[in-house]
Amino acid sequence: GETGDVLAVKAQFPGLSGNWHYLDTAATAQKPQAVIDATVDALGRDYATVHRGVYARSADMTLAFEAARRKVAAFLGGQEDEVVFTRGATEAINLVAQTWGVENLKAGDRILLSTLEHHSNIVPWQILRERTGVEIDVCPLTADGRIDLEAAERILTPAHKLMAFAHVSNVLGSVLHVEHAARLAHAVGAKLLIDGCQAAPRIALDMKAMQADFYVFSAHKLYGPTGIGALWARKEILDSMPPWQGGGAMIDRVAFEKTTYAPAPQRFEAGTPMIVEAVGLAAAIDWLQAYGLDRAEAHERNLAGKLREELGKRNDVTLFGPADSVGIVSFAMDGVHPHDLGTILDEEDVAIRAGHHCAQPLMEHLGVPATARASFGLYSDDSDIEALMKGIERTRRIFG
Ligand code: PMP
Repeated sequence: GETGDVLAVKAQFPGLSGNWHYLDTAATAQKPQAVIDATVDALGRDYATVHRGVYARSADMTLAFEAARRKVAAFLGGQEDEVVFTRGATEAINLVAQTWGVENLKAGDRILLSTLEHHSNIVPWQILRERTGVEIDVCPLTADGRIDLEAAERILTPAHKLMAFAHVSNVLGSVLHVEHAARLAHAVGAKLLIDGCQAAPRIALDMKAMQADFYVFSAHKLYGPTGIGALWARKEILDSMPPWQGGGAMIDRVAFEKTTYAPAPQRFEAGTPMIVEAVGLAAAIDWLQAYGLDRAEAHERNLAGKLREELGKRNDVTLFGPADSVGIVSFAMDGVHPHDLGTILDEEDVAIRAGHHCAQPLMEHLGVPATARASFGLYSDDSDIEALMKGIERTRRIFG
């Protein structure tokens, strides 16, 4: 049954041994043994540099590294030459802003973001604004905390060159209809960038169906290692983007008079890449696909729904976000600061997140300085919800 399945999943995560209720997977996911093993082998037994394949070990590592790129491409439903390895989602968005953005946007052009964006999908565009004079508009949310696409349709004009939205909110768990957003953006000639950090571990992705132009995610939220993520961009867009960082591996030929660059995606990967991390990411995708993305979404919706139901029974709790959120639930407890709640829960071995979740404009919109956030992974189960609810009850007794 479901409980046995989850226990079998949980047993694969050494970070979850003992009686710890980890409810902070939206910040970063624990790693299954398969990912740890793949990473250890890449750093040990199999370790060598890539793209210098005169000796067999390096040739093998190059194959593993490029296989990881193919794996990411297949995971996203894109092509291998559309995948750029980055340090994470943050770096991927900065890369788009500083290459595509600087090349294509000028004073008077507009960018549409939303109220619920993570700082990493706000600040890079503000830096671009300082450099180019582009204007930033903010799409409001529906009353239940989704990006309001009807409002987006009203706001968008031919001056909009980019719309950049989160696929799944890291605070509210609300899910964007990406295809719909793409139709709206493309109708005015804008590109669509999707921040897929919280969606990639929870929802099956298909770039062809979704029709975004850029999609970014971080491996560490997808049961993989820190230090790597990916930018997917439509081939013709990536090909048109100028290089970003200069150095080894991104060149065609270097001379002091003139240097020519490698084609995309190598053009965007200066220096020795994240070799070990790429192997770890490939193992994480294998693990997640073996679990099944449809099953992952069902699991994450089920747990979020159950927690919302339990919290909804209390008259001292305010719930944020829509009823059908996926994997992430934010709430506030009357008269208790989220940090105090988090501290008391920690004494009960329940780990939640308390804070602004790198989404200060959203906190402002909700009218709170911070929220308490519980987020699930594929190893989470009903016992985590029970422990959280018990901890909330104890907190209430302490605070009266
Ligand atoms: N966007 C969202 C929605 C996120 O949840 C996060 C991580 N909290 C990021 C972007 C940034 O990811 P990273 O820090 O791995 O670059």
